[in-house]
Amino acid sequence: MTNEVTITFLGGLGDIGRNCAAIETDDALLLLDCGQLFASEEEPGVDSILPDVDYLFERKDKIIGCLVTHGHEDHIGAIAQVLDRGLEFPIYGSAFTLGLVRYRCDERNVMGRTKLIEVADNETVQIGPFSVEFLAVTHSVPGGLISAITTPQGLVLHSSDFKLDPHPIDGRRTNLPRIGALAEDPGIRLLLADSTNSDAPGSSASESSMGAPLAEVFRSNQGRRVITACFASHMHRVQQIADAALEDGRKIATLGLSMKKNVALARSLGLLKIPDAAFFDIEEIGDFEPGELCIISTGSQGEERSSLATAAKGGNRWITIHDTDTVILSSHPIPGNEARVSNMMNDLIKRGAEVVHSGLVEIHTSGHGKRDELTTLHTVASPEWFVPVHGEYRHLVAHQLLSQSLGLAADHTLLAEDGDQVVLADDGLSLRHGVTPGAHQMLNGRFLGPDRGVIGQRKIIGQHGFVSVTAVVDFAQAKQVCDPWVECRGWLDGEDGDEIEAEIVRLVGVAIDAELENKKWDRASLMRKARRATGTCVNVRSQRRPMIIPVIIDI
Ligand SMILES: [Zn+2]
Ligand SMILES: [Zn+2]
Repeated sequence: MTNEVTITFLGGLGDIGRNCAAIETDDALLLLDCGQLFASEEEPGVDSILPDVDYLFERKDKIIGCLVTHGHEDHIGAIAQVLDRGLEFPIYGSAFTLGLVRYRCDERNVMGRTKLIEVADNETVQIGPFSVEFLAVTHSVPGGLISAITTPQGLVLHSSDFKLDPHPIDGRRTNLPRIGALAEDPGIRLLLADSTNSDAPGSSASESSMGAPLAEVFRSNQGRRVITACFASHMHRVQQIADAALEDGRKIATLGLSMKKNVALARSLGLLKIPDAAFFDIEEIGDFEPGELCIISTGSQGEERSSLATAAKGGNRWITIHDTDTVILSSHPIPGNEARVSNMMNDLIKRGAEVVHSGLVEIHTSGHGKRDELTTLHTVASPEWFVPVHGEYRHLVAHQLLSQSLGLAADHTLLAEDGDQVVLADDGLSLRHGVTPGAHQMLNGRFLGPDRGVIGQRKIIGQHGFVSVTAVVDFAQAKQVCDPWVECRGWLDGEDGDEIEAEIVRLVGVAIDAELENKKWDRASLMRKARRATGTCVNVRSQRRPMIIPVIIDI
């Protein structure tokens, strides 16, 4: 009998984000990605949402390493945080992925807690009890890797984020032939595969098919300055933008620190083929006519502090948007960012720019395989067991049903969610629900933890404001020393507010006097009365429900 191997999902099964799984034997834990989820407007004030890392802190001494499948934030964005909070482990990934990891670790000054171990396509590395073979995968960032992990319980294949592009920009196709060979010998015991586009029919368009429409946009905007934005790690898109710009006789500058760093990294690794002479520094922008320029910027998602969003607001140091600008958004807004991107487009257009986006022209394609591509992967891998990963709940279910429609028995496809664990044993794969809470770990400045109600409080304050009422009571004499007073923020202002405040002062004064007549009064009962008197007045008069904070001072 062979000891069981468990895989615990600490994030990524329920959200597109914070991908992280722990693959374990009795004495070793290998991490598979450690990403973040970007907070939405539903989580005001939250910097980032991390996987259920408590599970890792409790098993600190077992962790033997982390495989990073590729350099997107939903796969690497929590690494520096967990290292900073005391974990130590080596990280395995491609040169480009590790370059991005290094930036994050340098920023937090935690390189001393890790060792970056570069792996090449088709290389096999022994990590504790696991032998991991890394295979090329096509995705919207260079250097993505499929992990074929030989465990004491057979081969686990993790697809990484993948698509099957017959003509990738760098010629590096998803290594289906090797997956097919592994399916033959030794056979794939468990497949974990990307579900992002499992409810989208057909196949994703080839990245190389974006070249012609991009070139056309440049051709039809001669004489105008062209500002483009795409994901700062999408070097294949940057290559195509640069090719179109050079063909149109333009020079290129990057705008935004992450774009600048990533382009430099990709060029140093030979992943971007743009000659030195094609570049100018953004500081020299005044030396050129608009039609001679192409700026490649961050901010395709309208992120508040990004270069393009600040330019749209008129606050960018290097570029001022005007009517000789054409802005190309070579991306789709990721779910949750639609309003932000739309606002940025409005701001750009108000300043006179023309905006070309992927809703108008085919200038973006997904990095995630659609149903036909998933079908090919399942057919080639022919796994004994399947667990869909990387998706919202509906994506996971669609992917599970797809695998069943392709002939996998229903009881050989398990639907796991965050916090669940699958167990590979001699007699097959089973599911343990809720081994860990799987909670969203909210990063608020230095504080990290699950939400215990503070987000709800922020929403109340954000939507209705707060009102604080203070009463000063001589406890020994059981009488008020002076009138109560009111402080409010974000609730009402102007004369209406002043008048209601005066009424609150009067009503709270009366309520406290009445309570002090009661022989059983205490601080808590005074606070209750003050809160109730304030709340009734506030709700009736303003039809708002601000947070009410009563304060009783005893002198
Ligand atoms: Zn990705
Ligand atoms: Zn991803």
